[in-house]
Amino acid sequence: MEQQHSCEAVAVHCIDFRLQKAISKFLGKRFPGGYDRIAVAGGVKDLVANGENSLVFKNLKISSDLHQPKTIVLIQHGDCGAYGGSVEFADFAAEEALQKEQLKSAERLSKAQFPSVAVEKFLIRLSGELIPVI
Ligand SMILES: [Zn+2]
Repeated sequence: MEQQHSCEAVAVHCIDFRLQKAISKFLGKRFPGGYDRIAVAGGVKDLVANGENSLVFKNLKISSDLHQPKTIVLIQHGDCGAYGGSVEFADFAAEEALQKEQLKSAERLSKAQFPSVAVEKFLIRLSGELIPVI
């Protein structure tokens, strides 16, 4: 008999070691049944820049085909080196505005490709504070 192995969600986030504990804690609580994890430098940056040709998209497709996640979780973070870090921005509000735009673009791409999957978006600060993005 074939083993059922679907998961609740697939998460996309940055490789940055400073955020991994907080991200894992959040995802573990939110999706106790398990989730796939796609970690690439810059999180959704690759998806927004390269769409269907991105590594993120290819991994989302594989996750979707193999594990049928019901939710895509997109998590960007403050002081992301792939965007030049916080020094590139006048203040956190400016950084937050750019990351929210990135998340919204990534959500549009995700919904276009995976229309039956819900998308949740977050920005996480280095403090571990998780900001839901609507
Ligand atoms: Zn980063």
